[in-house]
Amino acid sequence: MSHSNGLPEDKFAELITQVIEFRDRQIAPHVIEWEKTRMFPADAIASAQELGLLGMEISPELGGLGVSFAQKLKVLDVLSEVSMPYAFSLVNTHNVAARLARYGTEDQKDRFLVDLLSGNKLGSTALTEPGAGSDFSSITTHATPDKDSWRLNGEKAWITNAASSTVIVAYAQTEPGTGARGIASFLIDGTQEGFERVAPYDLIGSHAIGTGGFRLNNYLASKADLLAPAGEGFSAALATINEARTYVASMCCAMVEASLRSSVEYASKRESFGKPIIEHQGLSWQLARVANQLEAARALTTKAIMVIENGDSEAAILPAAHAKKFATEFVEPALTACTQAMGANGLKEEFLLGHRLTAARVANYVDGSTEIMTDRIAKSLRSTYT
Ligand SMILES: Cc1cc2nc3c(=O)[nH]c(=O)nc-3n(C[C@H](O)[C@H](O)[C@H](O)COP(=O)(O)OP(=O)(O)OC[C@H]3O[C@@H](n4cnc5c(N)ncnc54)[C@H](O)[C@@H]3O)c2cc1C
Repeated sequence: MSHSNGLPEDKFAELITQVIEFRDRQIAPHVIEWEKTRMFPADAIASAQELGLLGMEISPELGGLGVSFAQKLKVLDVLSEVSMPYAFSLVNTHNVAARLARYGTEDQKDRFLVDLLSGNKLGSTALTEPGAGSDFSSITTHATPDKDSWRLNGEKAWITNAASSTVIVAYAQTEPGTGARGIASFLIDGTQEGFERVAPYDLIGSHAIGTGGFRLNNYLASKADLLAPAGEGFSAALATINEARTYVASMCCAMVEASLRSSVEYASKRESFGKPIIEHQGLSWQLARVANQLEAARALTTKAIMVIENGDSEAAILPAAHAKKFATEFVEPALTACTQAMGANGLKEEFLLGHRLTAARVANYVDGSTEIMTDRIAKSLRSTYT
């Protein structure tokens, strides 16, 4: 898949200034409250339509901004500095709009695209089930032909935005026993009969992701709701996974960079034993290690971005796995080191370090767990290093 070249530099710089202003006005003041009340901020996500962020990578002819993949990641980084859960929710609803814009039929675009771009409706992509996560080919939600339609039954779990999304790309098995070959995807309307929402989960944090699930009870999907037929569903799901892994890696970098800025500033002002604590080698070396790993994580992420922008999704598999594995393994110790450098003050909610730590935990599962990234790299060893 080819990617847009994006906005000219000056236009993109303008957009970033607006995103920072939007973030500081609409998101930053509420992040702690959303976490305390376990609230899914659907309205705040919808309000990103003010800047066109709900369709940022979609072409302007279809109502989007037409930013490039690298530019989209920069926008997500800016948002992730304050709330990675917010950015993650936003990009997930954006992805559904982008999928419909790119591959949807005119009917599907007519029915859902305008609502997704305006934030009237939120989108989700649903693969995971209570009994199947990493092993996606073992999903049991099934779709059976029913005259001109499909009848769907099953349950989806751990779905971003499921707290209130109504435009859902859901994957289902059409021929039990055939694994990946039988998986198809459908466009599900969460306002239709047969759709039953499960209450969002109480988690250790990151409630702005709106993670929850839903049941399909004899849900009737019309022929026109079939997105990818059996045999194509599995590869359709994997087609955009490298992009997702790369933006998760990038978000981890953004969270560490913001935390490092806070801790360097703090350690430059706070004194112990007659000098700023950053001048104690025992402390500055801990932060130097964070900076060093941040540079490495950024370099791996930049490499994955470049390969993805070249349009060869096969070639992007390994760079995306390397970027996500490295970023998700370094992000938690890095955030802990930044917190430690601020002494007890690092525990205060206002510095967002705890908020980022739970988001870092989430990053280790979404779009392929850290172990699955390691496995992907392990499987490439003989072809790469012989
Ligand atoms: C906040 C949040 C949002 C999410 N959003 C979505 C979404 O929008 N849509 C969606 O479909 N899913 C979503 N997920 C689900 C996510 O994709 C799964 O959590 C992930 O695929 C792992 O599946 P699991 O949690 O069932 O763990 P399991 O697959 O049960 O794995 C449990 C543990 O075993 C490890 N493991 C499994 N297989 C192997 C192996 N072969 N080798 C080594 N270790 C292995 C895993 O890495 C993990 O540590 C979300 C999850 C979270 C936490």
